[in-house]
Amino acid sequence: MAKRINRMQFLRGDFEGEGAFRPPWAIAENTFTDICDRCDQCLKACPLNIIKPGIAGFPEIDFSRGGCDFCESCAQACPTQALHITDSNIEMPWQHIANVKTSCLSENGVVCRCCGDVCEMHAIRFKLVVGGSALIDLNTEECNGCGECVSVCPVQAIEMQHVQNANQLEINP
Ligand code: SF4
Ligand code: SF4
Ligand code: SF4
Repeated sequence: MAKRINRMQFLRGDFEGEGAFRPPWAIAENTFTDICDRCDQCLKACPLNIIKPGIAGFPEIDFSRGGCDFCESCAQACPTQALHITDSNIEMPWQHIANVKTSCLSENGVVCRCCGDVCEMHAIRFKLVVGGSALIDLNTEECNGCGECVSVCPVQAIEMQHVQNANQLEINP
């Protein structure tokens, strides 16, 4: 079945409906831009200042500024329920995980553990390999997508990636 996308997604060529990283507990992307009124309350509420106005002024997470600690302030400040915490989604605030690119220093024989040091989920470990160096090993099952590892990487080798999730709320405008 074809994915439903909204006008905003169409205009920016996001035919998979996966483009922006919305703040945690955002409703499904195909209704988010209909419900969100771009009031900026979530931006103002975020104590870590990681939410920025994205395309057309809709809020997006900027992981280059740091990771999310899931404090819930943005969702509590949202007047429209575009960010919406329920009993069923509280443990799953969003649908993306980290991905390590081949530019990772450990993949290239250089000692670096910056990302592993900040990962509270212990999703990033380093495996010793022949020759004494250590290779990065990201356990995507453990990753909660907080993004803490993105900004600390000295070579920008970590990016966030969307994953499919059936739990995301669909709210009709
Ligand atoms: S949960 Fe807290 S830290 Fe994360 S984006 Fe919302 S306000 Fe910012
Ligand atoms: S911080 Fe970056 S370069 Fe260092 S181990 Fe992690 S991904 Fe690799
Ligand atoms: S995004 Fe995933 S791998 Fe990176 S710090 Fe957060 S839990 Fe760890």
